[in-house]
Amino acid sequence: MRCEDEIQQTFVALKPDAVERKLIGRIIQRFEDRGFNIIEIKMLKLSKELAEEYYSEHKGKEFYERLITFMTSGKIVAMVIEGERAINTVRKMIGNTCPYDAFPGTIRGDFGLYLPKNIIHASDSIDGAKKEIELFFDSK
Ligand code: ADP
Ligand code: MG
Repeated sequence: MRCEDEIQQTFVALKPDAVERKLIGRIIQRFEDRGFNIIEIKMLKLSKELAEEYYSEHKGKEFYERLITFMTSGKIVAMVIEGERAINTVRKMIGNTCPYDAFPGTIRGDFGLYLPKNIIHASDSIDGAKKEIELFFDSK
């Protein structure tokens, strides 16, 4: 089995529903328990402009306006998580986009209720992680 070391950084955001439901500590604990390092973290309220750039890949989709409204409805916690194969592993830990399809044991499967309120975002590719980390942390 191929299992070489590959340390990666990925971008994770705890969405407004996670902050409102006081789940920040419990979610971060899961990543630390898995051995990941939180190397950047900040709390912020997304402007409409930043939310639109962040979710530009979904512009024009049926749920886009609802997603932007939700993501700008309260504070989020943005962070960079680093560790072994972080991009893929963190995506596995957060679970399926639709909370009702997410397996128990995943973050969305344990805490999520319905779309678009699915608790958490994580980058889905190397390019996506780079873009999102730059968007949130490189222009401080
Ligand atoms: P993921 O967050 O798992 O990468 P997507 O990139 O497909 O999923 O979608 C981005 C976000 O848009 C989702 O996390 C969710 O908050 C919202 N979303 C996706 N599909 C829908 C939908 N059909 N209805 C409402 N909101 C949705
Ligand atoms: Mg996505």
